[in-house]
Amino acid sequence: MEYLQGLNPSQRAAVECVKGPVMIIAGAGSGKTRVITYRVAHLIRLGIDPFNILVLTFTNKAAREMRERIVGVVGAEAKNIWMGTFHSVFAKLLRVEADKIGYPSNFTIYDTDDSKSLLRAILKEMNLDDKLYSANFVYNRISAAKNNLISWQEYQQNDQIQADDFSGGRGQLGKIYETYAQRCYRAGAMDFDDLLFKTNELLKKNPDVLYKYQNKFKYLMVDEYQDTNYSQYLIVKKLAAINENICVVGDDAQSIYAFRGANIQNILNFEKDYPDLHVFKLEQNYRSTQNIVNVANSIIANNKDQLKKTVYSEKEHGDKIKVMRAFSDNEEGKMVAEAILQEHANKGLRWHDFAILYRTNAQSRSMEEALRKLNIPYKIYGGLSFYQRKEIKDLIAYFRLTYNPHDEAALKRVINYPKRGIGDTTVDRLIVSANQHQISLWEAATDPAKYLDGRTASTVSNFIILIQSFQVIAQTMSAYEAALHIAQHSGLLKDLYEDKSIEGLNRHENIQELLNGIKEFSEREDIEEKGLDVFLQDIALLTNDDNDKNKDADTVSLMTIHSSKGLEFPHVFVVGLEENLFPSQLSLNSRTDLEEERRLFYVGVTRTEHKLTLSYATSRFKFGTLINCEPSRFLDEIDAKFLELDYSAKPATGNPFFDDEKPDNRNKDIFSKPKPSASSPKTTSVLAKAHVPTAGFAPSDMTKLQTGMEVEHERFGFGKVINLEGNKPDIKATIFFKELGQKQLLLKFAKLRIV
Ligand code: ATP
Ligand code: MG
Repeated sequence: MEYLQGLNPSQRAAVECVKGPVMIIAGAGSGKTRVITYRVAHLIRLGIDPFNILVLTFTNKAAREMRERIVGVVGAEAKNIWMGTFHSVFAKLLRVEADKIGYPSNFTIYDTDDSKSLLRAILKEMNLDDKLYSANFVYNRISAAKNNLISWQEYQQNDQIQADDFSGGRGQLGKIYETYAQRCYRAGAMDFDDLLFKTNELLKKNPDVLYKYQNKFKYLMVDEYQDTNYSQYLIVKKLAAINENICVVGDDAQSIYAFRGANIQNILNFEKDYPDLHVFKLEQNYRSTQNIVNVANSIIANNKDQLKKTVYSEKEHGDKIKVMRAFSDNEEGKMVAEAILQEHANKGLRWHDFAILYRTNAQSRSMEEALRKLNIPYKIYGGLSFYQRKEIKDLIAYFRLTYNPHDEAALKRVINYPKRGIGDTTVDRLIVSANQHQISLWEAATDPAKYLDGRTASTVSNFIILIQSFQVIAQTMSAYEAALHIAQHSGLLKDLYEDKSIEGLNRHENIQELLNGIKEFSEREDIEEKGLDVFLQDIALLTNDDNDKNKDADTVSLMTIHSSKGLEFPHVFVVGLEENLFPSQLSLNSRTDLEEERRLFYVGVTRTEHKLTLSYATSRFKFGTLINCEPSRFLDEIDAKFLELDYSAKPATGNPFFDDEKPDNRNKDIFSKPKPSASSPKTTSVLAKAHVPTAGFAPSDMTKLQTGMEVEHERFGFGKVINLEGNKPDIKATIFFKELGQKQLLLKFAKLRIV
């Protein structure tokens, strides 16, 4: 039991309590994930068969890391544990059992793009107003219904839902949900929410299947339990019903997915569901310095809704939390990058010791620019993943179609790409016919003469024959050979090859990269099944973070706070602490939403091991408009004694928008808010009030402006152009104003005149 020595007494007690229900709700960094890892190793040491263990984690990356650690303790047999995210674990289970709910085992998984484009098609077919019924809105509505296990039939029969929809003028939602569900079904496709919804359906309708998995998964563990939704809660509850060997760990203060249906009630229900529950408290934080833990505690104390708990650290006090003020988003990036460069050099740190966390993906731009200028290597997690690129999705659509020709999203994507003369009208006609006959689009397309005129019908036939030939190839060739064959014979490689633009070359390289990936996959020795279909299943649930090829590369990490959950870094920068950005504008209307934002801030802060820096900018470009920003209320909420202010950044000359008064100990004054002059509104649009020119620069006038020229701006006064960048009509000018110092303006909006 030597391996248990890395645990404190409460952690060890939780690890050794292997029978019956266990719950640990404890603060960040207190070793919850560590308890799960050790508990699994301990179970295997006790002789439990790894095949009987199910561990549900929040990301596939977390599962992979956990598995590696367990293998380190107990050896290779740990590879047999079922471990992964809810979506990946239950997709795997559904592959085996899909026929019980009328799905083929090779069902396709629709990603969010597929789902939304199908919804857009349905909305168009139903002639609905796309403002009232935007694809995003409808998608979220259906997703919420599924996560609460409301089928389309129940949706239509629920008086309350119907009354709400009708009073909001959206009475057609039930019908859209029905059509969407049927179209997915006919296409042999499940969307992300279906993976859980259909698992529930499977377990509910098939007691024998439920029984089988209740006996298989004798031990269940769930990390980040606070972020489970109702659908996930019920799956776990059902699977654990016989043995009740279930251990959940989480932190209500880190619940940040309510907007996606996560339900904090799941923690409270847990105590009711299992009266014999063993509850363990973990209070010591092993991750962070005392200052950071104290700051985190003081932040979360502002929330009314929380389970009271103690968190303390016995590590050193550590540095104070640094607060940096910048005058623009670009300057904020520069300050962060410079601070990283300095710490890296002075303290002999590695780049991967640093993380920059932000509220929204768009904020990465100014950070990236600044890091690039200083040659600091970085990696962005999240955002657009390799597998979301158009060319990759195109080729994958061919693969999907080869294995599941009913896949409507895939079929629509490539039926006329590369161009083969099958226009939208033809496709629309086939869709209408398919809907009339309640068959899939593929089935309609295999009988084209019935629905189309002779010439079009034969073009469609040729396409069908092409896909059928791929189906034969896929059965006989290795994954790589089949993939290469499809890339060539679909015409896709040639199409990209002929595009000699830089983007075209890039796309061609990306396809090569995908083919290389498939080659590696088909040569792997640690897996038995290496068909292209298995590769497809693997990538359907990948996120960019999971597909981290260079995971050992020494780079600064950039990510949203949402995706930083569970991770830790020695140095953390939480940037963009401004009202309307963090907390986000959308959260300001209700206390519940604001408290979720505050929990998000708590998550960001508690990723830090040694040093935390918070930053904000006092102005920021949004949609081409310069906005003045106020420091976030979250900064005001932190006890000033923990903070160290860095206001070294100063505008070049006195700046009427920002006062420079010396900070004192009251935070309200510390975060000296910009004091706009009486005539300027709080949010200053560059479009406002024109007295110099009446509008922004017309594209034809833009060529007249050159660096070095003197200009006058409607409100900023006289200045000199010091740089021009970008292309018409999006040219950005950097202008040094006599009174205000440097500013960047988008010419098309800037009310400027050449002096
Ligand atoms: P979060 O709420 O952020 O997910 P957590 O409660 O899951 O945090 P862990 O990630 O398990 O916390 O642990 C935080 C850090 O503390 C890790 O680096 C872990 O290895 C370390 N740690 C936890 N317990 C101990 C211990 N008893 N001795 C030494 N280090 C520990
Ligand atoms: Mg954790």
